[in-house]
Amino acid sequence: MLVLVLNSGSSSIKYQVRDVPDDGGSGEDVIVTEGIVERIGEGPVKDHAQALEAISRKVGDAVGDTDIDAVGHRVVHGGERFDEPVLINNEITRAIERLNPLAPLHNPANVLGIRAITEKWPKMPQVAVFDTAFHRRSLPEHAWRYAVPDELYRRFGIRRYGFHGTSHEYVSRKAAAFLGTPLEDFDAVIAHLGNGASVTAVKGGRSIDTSMGFTPLEGLVMGTRSGDIDAGILLFLQREGYTAEEIDQMLNRESGLKALAGNNDMRSVVEAAEDGDARAAMALEAAAYRLAKYIGGYHVAVGGAHAVVFTAGIGENSWQFRERVVGRLDALEIMLDERANRERSKEPRIISTEDSAIPVLVVPTDEERAIAEATAAVVSAAKA
Ligand code: ADP
Repeated sequence: MLVLVLNSGSSSIKYQVRDVPDDGGSGEDVIVTEGIVERIGEGPVKDHAQALEAISRKVGDAVGDTDIDAVGHRVVHGGERFDEPVLINNEITRAIERLNPLAPLHNPANVLGIRAITEKWPKMPQVAVFDTAFHRRSLPEHAWRYAVPDELYRRFGIRRYGFHGTSHEYVSRKAAAFLGTPLEDFDAVIAHLGNGASVTAVKGGRSIDTSMGFTPLEGLVMGTRSGDIDAGILLFLQREGYTAEEIDQMLNRESGLKALAGNNDMRSVVEAAEDGDARAAMALEAAAYRLAKYIGGYHVAVGGAHAVVFTAGIGENSWQFRERVVGRLDALEIMLDERANRERSKEPRIISTEDSAIPVLVVPTDEERAIAEATAAVVSAAKA
Protein backbone atom coordinates (compact mmCIF):
# COMPACT_ATOMS: atom_id res chain seq x y z
CA MET A 1 0.00 0.00 0.00
CA LEU A 2 1.34 3.46 -0.90
CA VAL A 3 0.91 5.79 2.06
CA LEU A 4 1.60 9.52 1.99
CA VAL A 5 2.78 10.45 5.49
CA LEU A 6 2.29 14.11 6.44
CA ASN A 7 3.85 15.89 9.38
CA SER A 8 2.31 19.37 9.30
CA GLY A 9 3.82 22.13 11.38
CA SER A 10 2.70 25.72 11.60
CA SER A 11 5.08 26.86 8.84
CA SER A 12 6.26 23.63 7.22
CA ILE A 13 4.99 20.27 6.03
CA LYS A 14 7.28 17.23 5.92
CA TYR A 15 6.12 14.44 3.66
CA GLN A 16 7.14 10.93 2.80
CA VAL A 17 5.61 8.28 0.55
CA ARG A 18 6.10 4.79 1.98
CA ASP A 19 5.30 1.49 0.35
CA VAL A 20 4.20 -0.72 3.26
CA PRO A 21 2.54 -4.15 3.53
CA ASP A 22 -1.26 -3.86 3.14
CA ASP A 23 -2.01 -5.27 6.57
CA GLY A 24 0.26 -2.74 8.28
CA GLY A 25 2.51 -5.62 9.34
CA SER A 26 6.20 -4.92 9.59
CA GLY A 27 7.44 -6.56 6.38
CA GLU A 28 9.77 -4.81 3.96
CA ASP A 29 8.96 -1.16 3.43
CA VAL A 30 10.39 1.34 0.98
CA ILE A 31 10.67 5.13 1.03
CA VAL A 32 9.42 6.07 -2.43
CA THR A 33 9.96 9.81 -2.13
CA GLU A 34 10.24 12.41 0.61
CA GLY A 35 10.72 16.12 1.15
CA ILE A 36 9.67 19.23 2.99
CA VAL A 37 7.82 22.43 2.10
CA GLU A 38 8.97 25.25 4.33
CA ARG A 39 8.15 28.91 4.99
CA ILE A 40 4.41 28.45 4.50
CA GLY A 41 2.73 31.86 4.68
CA GLU A 42 5.90 33.80 3.89
CA GLY A 43 6.67 33.50 0.19
CA PRO A 44 4.97 31.95 -2.83
CA VAL A 45 3.43 29.22 -0.63
CA LYS A 46 0.55 31.16 0.93
CA ASP A 47 -1.11 28.50 3.04
CA HIS A 48 -1.34 24.79 3.83
CA ALA A 49 -3.59 24.16 0.83
CA GLN A 50 -0.92 25.56 -1.49
CA ALA A 51 1.77 23.59 0.29
CA LEU A 52 -0.28 20.43 -0.27
CA GLU A 53 -0.62 21.37 -3.96
CA ALA A 54 3.16 21.59 -4.18
CA ILE A 55 3.54 18.27 -2.39
CA SER A 56 1.00 16.51 -4.59
CA ARG A 57 2.89 17.75 -7.68
CA LYS A 58 6.16 16.40 -6.32
CA VAL A 59 4.55 13.15 -5.26
CA GLY A 60 2.84 12.99 -8.65
CA ASP A 61 6.20 13.28 -10.39
CA ALA A 62 7.56 10.43 -8.30
CA VAL A 63 4.66 7.94 -8.28
CA GLY A 64 1.60 9.43 -9.99
CA ASP A 65 -0.61 10.99 -7.32
CA THR A 66 -3.54 8.78 -8.29
CA ASP A 67 -1.50 5.85 -6.97
CA ILE A 68 -1.53 7.00 -3.35
CA ASP A 69 -3.80 4.64 -1.39
CA ALA A 70 -4.03 6.53 1.89
CA VAL A 71 -2.73 9.52 3.80
CA GLY A 72 -1.39 9.21 7.35
CA HIS A 73 -1.19 12.36 9.47
CA ARG A 74 1.04 12.78 12.46
CA VAL A 75 -1.23 14.54 14.95
CA VAL A 76 0.48 15.84 18.05
CA HIS A 77 -2.40 15.90 20.52
CA GLY A 78 -5.14 13.31 20.80
CA GLY A 79 -6.32 14.47 24.22
CA GLU A 80 -8.17 11.96 26.37
CA ARG A 81 -10.25 10.57 23.56
CA PHE A 82 -7.74 9.07 21.16
CA ASP A 83 -5.75 6.06 22.30
CA GLU A 84 -5.33 4.47 18.85
CA PRO A 85 -4.87 5.69 15.27
CA VAL A 86 -8.27 6.46 13.69
CA LEU A 87 -9.82 6.76 10.26
CA ILE A 88 -10.59 10.45 9.76
CA ASN A 89 -14.07 11.80 8.99
CA ASN A 90 -15.61 15.23 9.61
CA GLU A 91 -16.46 14.44 13.20
CA ILE A 92 -12.89 13.27 13.93
CA THR A 93 -11.47 16.40 12.31
CA ARG A 94 -13.68 18.57 14.51
CA ALA A 95 -12.63 16.57 17.57
CA ILE A 96 -8.96 17.19 16.74
CA GLU A 97 -9.78 20.86 16.23
CA ARG A 98 -11.38 21.03 19.68
CA LEU A 99 -8.00 19.97 21.09
CA ASN A 100 -6.30 23.06 19.60
CA PRO A 101 -6.03 24.82 22.98
CA LEU A 102 -3.96 21.89 24.30
CA ALA A 103 -1.46 22.08 21.40
CA PRO A 104 -1.80 25.59 19.95
CA LEU A 105 1.30 25.35 17.76
CA HIS A 106 0.62 21.90 16.35
CA ASN A 107 -2.98 20.73 16.15
CA PRO A 108 -4.25 23.69 14.06
CA ALA A 109 -1.59 22.84 11.44
CA ASN A 110 -2.63 19.18 11.52
CA VAL A 111 -6.26 20.18 10.95
CA LEU A 112 -5.26 22.41 8.03
CA GLY A 113 -3.37 19.47 6.52
CA ILE A 114 -6.37 17.15 6.90
CA ARG A 115 -8.79 19.69 5.40
CA ALA A 116 -6.46 20.42 2.48
CA ILE A 117 -6.33 16.70 1.60
CA THR A 118 -10.12 16.37 2.00
CA GLU A 119 -10.59 19.25 -0.47
CA LYS A 120 -8.14 17.89 -2.96
CA TRP A 121 -8.94 14.16 -2.77
CA PRO A 122 -12.41 13.82 -1.17
CA LYS A 123 -12.37 10.03 -1.38
CA MET A 124 -8.86 9.51 0.00
CA PRO A 125 -8.78 7.44 3.22
CA GLN A 126 -6.98 9.50 5.87
CA VAL A 127 -5.72 8.28 9.22
CA ALA A 128 -4.67 10.32 12.26
CA VAL A 129 -1.78 8.88 14.26
CA PHE A 130 -1.44 10.62 17.63
CA ASP A 131 1.76 11.39 19.54
CA THR A 132 -0.17 10.99 22.78
CA ALA A 133 -2.02 7.73 22.04
CA PHE A 134 0.59 5.25 23.31
CA HIS A 135 0.55 6.94 26.71
CA ARG A 136 -3.23 7.54 26.76
CA ARG A 137 -3.79 3.82 26.31
CA SER A 138 -2.11 2.73 29.49
CA LEU A 139 -0.77 5.45 31.83
CA PRO A 140 -2.22 4.71 35.26
CA GLU A 141 -3.99 7.54 37.04
CA HIS A 142 -1.32 7.80 39.73
CA ALA A 143 1.13 8.65 36.95
CA TRP A 144 -1.03 11.01 34.87
CA ARG A 145 -2.55 13.01 37.74
CA TYR A 146 -0.96 16.23 38.87
CA ALA A 147 -1.48 16.84 42.57
CA VAL A 148 -3.58 19.96 41.96
CA PRO A 149 -7.28 20.78 42.51
CA ASP A 150 -9.54 18.52 40.47
CA GLU A 151 -11.19 21.54 38.85
CA LEU A 152 -8.09 22.05 36.70
CA TYR A 153 -8.52 18.58 35.27
CA ARG A 154 -12.30 18.83 34.85
CA ARG A 155 -12.37 22.32 33.31
CA PHE A 156 -9.18 22.32 31.26
CA GLY A 157 -8.05 18.72 30.96
CA ILE A 158 -4.89 19.51 32.88
CA ARG A 159 -3.13 16.15 33.32
CA ARG A 160 -0.04 14.41 32.03
CA TYR A 161 -0.50 13.35 28.38
CA GLY A 162 3.05 12.61 27.20
CA PHE A 163 4.36 12.86 23.63
CA HIS A 164 6.67 11.04 21.17
CA GLY A 165 4.34 8.06 21.72
CA THR A 166 4.64 6.79 18.15
CA SER A 167 8.41 6.61 18.54
CA HIS A 168 8.37 5.11 22.05
CA GLU A 169 5.94 2.41 20.90
CA TYR A 170 7.85 1.61 17.71
CA VAL A 171 11.19 1.46 19.52
CA SER A 172 9.72 -0.72 22.30
CA ARG A 173 8.57 -3.24 19.70
CA LYS A 174 11.92 -3.20 17.91
CA ALA A 175 13.90 -3.55 21.12
CA ALA A 176 11.75 -6.43 22.40
CA ALA A 177 12.05 -8.23 19.07
CA PHE A 178 15.81 -7.64 19.01
CA LEU A 179 16.18 -9.16 22.48
CA GLY A 180 13.79 -12.01 21.65
CA THR A 181 11.40 -11.01 24.46
CA PRO A 182 7.63 -11.17 23.83
CA LEU A 183 6.36 -7.57 23.87
CA GLU A 184 3.87 -8.33 26.64
CA ASP A 185 6.79 -9.34 28.88
CA PHE A 186 9.03 -6.43 27.93
CA ASP A 187 9.88 -3.91 30.66
CA ALA A 188 12.24 -1.10 29.69
CA VAL A 189 13.23 2.53 29.91
CA ILE A 190 13.15 4.20 26.48
CA ALA A 191 14.97 7.53 25.96
CA HIS A 192 13.91 9.41 22.81
CA LEU A 193 16.52 12.16 22.54
CA GLY A 194 16.01 14.57 19.66
CA ASN A 195 15.56 18.34 19.72
CA GLY A 196 12.62 17.54 21.93
CA ALA A 197 13.39 14.70 24.29
CA SER A 198 11.39 12.40 26.53
CA VAL A 199 11.84 9.18 28.43
CA THR A 200 9.17 6.52 28.92
CA ALA A 201 8.75 3.70 31.42
CA VAL A 202 7.47 0.69 29.50
CA LYS A 203 5.97 -2.30 31.32
CA GLY A 204 4.64 -5.26 29.40
CA GLY A 205 5.11 -3.26 26.21
CA ARG A 206 2.84 -0.47 27.51
CA SER A 207 3.62 3.06 28.66
CA ILE A 208 3.23 3.44 32.43
CA ASP A 209 5.01 6.77 32.86
CA THR A 210 6.62 9.39 30.67
CA SER A 211 8.58 12.57 31.27
CA MET A 212 6.66 15.02 29.08
CA GLY A 213 3.43 16.14 30.68
CA PHE A 214 0.52 18.45 29.91
CA THR A 215 2.79 19.99 27.27
CA PRO A 216 6.14 18.91 25.80
CA LEU A 217 7.91 21.30 28.16
CA GLU A 218 8.22 18.96 31.14
CA GLY A 219 11.01 16.50 31.85
CA LEU A 220 14.47 16.35 30.34
CA VAL A 221 16.89 19.16 29.51
CA MET A 222 16.23 19.56 25.75
CA GLY A 223 17.66 21.56 22.86
CA THR A 224 15.74 24.74 23.68
CA ARG A 225 13.32 23.62 26.45
CA SER A 226 14.08 23.74 30.14
CA GLY A 227 12.35 20.52 31.11
CA ASP A 228 11.43 20.30 34.81
CA ILE A 229 11.54 23.54 36.74
CA ASP A 230 9.87 24.73 39.92
CA ALA A 231 6.41 26.03 38.93
CA GLY A 232 7.01 28.76 41.51
CA ILE A 233 9.45 30.33 39.02
CA LEU A 234 6.51 31.06 36.70
CA LEU A 235 4.64 32.83 39.47
CA PHE A 236 7.72 34.80 40.41
CA LEU A 237 8.29 35.90 36.80
CA GLN A 238 4.63 36.88 36.39
CA ARG A 239 4.84 39.04 39.49
CA GLU A 240 8.00 40.57 38.05
CA GLY A 241 5.94 41.61 35.03
CA TYR A 242 6.78 38.98 32.41
CA THR A 243 3.86 38.10 30.15
CA ALA A 244 2.74 34.55 29.41
CA GLU A 245 4.09 34.95 25.87
CA GLU A 246 7.50 36.00 27.15
CA ILE A 247 7.68 33.12 29.60
CA ASP A 248 6.55 30.69 26.90
CA GLN A 249 9.26 31.94 24.56
CA MET A 250 11.90 31.77 27.27
CA LEU A 251 11.14 28.26 28.50
CA ASN A 252 10.31 26.65 25.15
CA ARG A 253 12.77 28.40 22.84
CA GLU A 254 15.58 29.97 24.87
CA SER A 255 16.27 27.35 27.51
CA GLY A 256 17.82 23.88 27.66
CA LEU A 257 21.20 23.36 25.99
CA LYS A 258 20.76 26.70 24.26
CA ALA A 259 20.63 28.51 27.60
CA LEU A 260 23.33 26.46 29.29
CA ALA A 261 25.82 26.17 26.42
CA GLY A 262 24.75 28.87 23.97
CA ASN A 263 23.84 26.26 21.36
CA ASN A 264 20.89 23.89 20.99
CA ASP A 265 22.64 21.40 18.70
CA MET A 266 24.16 18.44 20.54
CA ARG A 267 26.98 18.03 18.03
CA SER A 268 28.15 21.60 18.58
CA VAL A 269 27.84 21.30 22.35
CA VAL A 270 29.92 18.10 22.38
CA GLU A 271 32.56 19.70 20.14
CA ALA A 272 32.73 22.80 22.32
CA ALA A 273 33.11 20.66 25.45
CA GLU A 274 35.92 18.69 23.79
CA ASP A 275 37.61 22.00 22.95
CA GLY A 276 37.59 22.87 26.64
CA ASP A 277 34.45 25.05 26.86
CA ALA A 278 33.44 24.69 30.51
CA ARG A 279 29.86 25.89 29.97
CA ALA A 280 29.33 23.29 27.27
CA ALA A 281 30.75 20.56 29.51
CA MET A 282 28.43 21.61 32.33
CA ALA A 283 25.44 21.65 29.94
CA LEU A 284 26.19 18.06 28.94
CA GLU A 285 26.48 17.04 32.59
CA ALA A 286 23.20 18.77 33.45
CA ALA A 287 21.37 17.01 30.60
CA ALA A 288 22.98 13.62 31.33
CA TYR A 289 22.35 13.94 35.07
CA ARG A 290 18.66 14.72 34.53
CA LEU A 291 18.24 11.76 32.21
CA ALA A 292 20.11 9.40 34.56
CA LYS A 293 17.76 10.42 37.40
CA TYR A 294 14.76 9.59 35.20
CA ILE A 295 16.26 6.25 34.21
CA GLY A 296 16.77 5.38 37.88
CA GLY A 297 13.20 6.42 38.70
CA TYR A 298 11.65 4.53 35.81
CA HIS A 299 13.74 1.44 36.56
CA VAL A 300 11.86 1.42 39.87
CA ALA A 301 8.54 2.30 38.19
CA VAL A 302 8.63 -0.77 35.94
CA GLY A 303 9.79 -3.04 38.78
CA GLY A 304 13.25 -3.60 37.29
CA ALA A 305 13.77 -2.88 33.61
CA HIS A 306 15.10 -5.52 31.20
CA ALA A 307 16.84 -2.87 29.11
CA VAL A 308 17.64 0.81 28.70
CA VAL A 309 17.13 1.97 25.12
CA PHE A 310 18.47 5.09 23.38
CA THR A 311 16.86 6.47 20.22
CA ALA A 312 16.39 9.57 17.97
CA GLY A 313 19.05 12.04 16.74
CA ILE A 314 21.10 12.28 19.94
CA GLY A 315 20.30 8.82 21.29
CA GLU A 316 21.30 7.14 18.04
CA ASN A 317 24.33 9.25 17.17
CA SER A 318 25.96 10.88 20.15
CA TRP A 319 28.22 8.26 21.76
CA GLN A 320 29.63 11.05 23.91
CA PHE A 321 26.25 11.86 25.42
CA ARG A 322 25.38 8.16 25.91
CA GLU A 323 28.72 7.67 27.67
CA ARG A 324 27.92 10.49 30.10
CA VAL A 325 24.45 9.11 30.85
CA VAL A 326 25.39 5.45 31.30
CA GLY A 327 28.43 6.52 33.31
CA ARG A 328 25.96 7.72 35.95
CA LEU A 329 24.18 4.35 36.23
CA ASP A 330 26.86 2.55 38.27
CA ALA A 331 24.51 2.11 41.22
CA LEU A 332 22.31 -0.04 38.97
CA GLU A 333 25.39 -2.03 37.87
CA ILE A 334 24.71 -1.01 34.30
CA MET A 335 28.06 -1.01 32.45
CA LEU A 336 28.88 0.55 29.13
CA ASP A 337 31.10 -1.22 26.59
CA GLU A 338 33.03 1.85 25.48
CA ARG A 339 34.10 0.37 22.19
CA ALA A 340 30.65 -0.90 21.22
CA ASN A 341 29.23 2.48 22.23
CA ARG A 342 31.47 4.25 19.70
CA GLU A 343 30.61 2.02 16.77
CA ARG A 344 28.26 3.51 14.16
CA SER A 345 25.40 1.52 12.72
CA LYS A 346 21.83 1.96 11.51
CA GLU A 347 20.85 -1.36 13.12
CA PRO A 348 19.64 -2.06 16.67
CA ARG A 349 22.62 -2.98 18.83
CA ILE A 350 23.84 -3.57 22.37
CA ILE A 351 26.35 -1.09 23.81
CA SER A 352 26.73 -2.54 27.32
CA THR A 353 29.22 -5.12 28.57
CA GLU A 354 28.39 -8.81 29.02
CA ASP A 355 28.35 -8.44 32.79
CA SER A 356 26.13 -5.34 32.81
CA ALA A 357 23.09 -5.99 35.03
CA ILE A 358 20.82 -5.24 32.05
CA PRO A 359 21.63 -4.47 28.43
CA VAL A 360 21.79 -0.93 27.08
CA LEU A 361 20.57 -0.69 23.49
CA VAL A 362 20.63 1.78 20.63
CA VAL A 363 17.54 1.28 18.46
CA PRO A 364 16.93 3.65 15.54
CA THR A 365 13.43 5.11 15.49
CA ASP A 366 11.39 5.70 12.34
CA GLU A 367 8.23 7.67 13.07
CA GLU A 368 7.23 7.92 9.40
CA ARG A 369 7.41 4.19 9.00
CA ALA A 370 5.36 3.66 12.16
CA ILE A 371 2.75 6.14 10.88
CA ALA A 372 2.65 4.48 7.46
CA GLU A 373 2.20 1.02 9.00
CA ALA A 374 -0.51 2.24 11.38
CA THR A 375 -2.29 3.96 8.48
CA ALA A 376 -2.20 0.80 6.35
CA ALA A 377 -3.52 -1.27 9.26
CA VAL A 378 -6.44 1.10 9.96
CA VAL A 379 -7.39 1.41 6.27
CA SER A 380 -7.22 -2.36 5.73
CA ALA A 381 -9.33 -3.03 8.83
CA ALA A 382 -11.94 -0.49 7.66
CA LYS A 383 -12.17 -2.22 4.26
CA ALA A 384 -12.50 -5.70 5.74
P1 ADP B 1 13.89 16.23 16.01
O1 ADP B 1 13.33 15.12 15.15
O2 ADP B 1 13.31 16.30 17.38
O3 ADP B 1 13.98 17.55 15.33
P2 ADP B 1 16.35 14.68 15.87
O4 ADP B 1 15.85 13.36 16.35
O5 ADP B 1 16.70 14.81 14.45
O6 ADP B 1 15.40 15.86 16.32
O7 ADP B 1 17.64 15.05 16.77
C1 ADP B 1 18.30 16.27 16.65
C2 ADP B 1 19.49 16.26 17.59
O8 ADP B 1 20.33 15.14 17.26
C3 ADP B 1 20.36 17.48 17.52
O9 ADP B 1 20.70 17.92 18.83
C4 ADP B 1 21.61 17.00 16.82
O10 ADP B 1 22.77 17.69 17.23
C5 ADP B 1 21.67 15.56 17.27
N1 ADP B 1 22.49 14.77 16.36
C6 ADP B 1 22.20 14.41 15.09
N2 ADP B 1 23.25 13.74 14.54
C7 ADP B 1 24.21 13.69 15.48
C8 ADP B 1 25.53 13.15 15.54
N3 ADP B 1 26.07 12.53 14.50
N4 ADP B 1 26.22 13.29 16.69
C9 ADP B 1 25.69 13.93 17.74
N5 ADP B 1 24.46 14.46 17.76
C10 ADP B 1 23.73 14.34 16.65
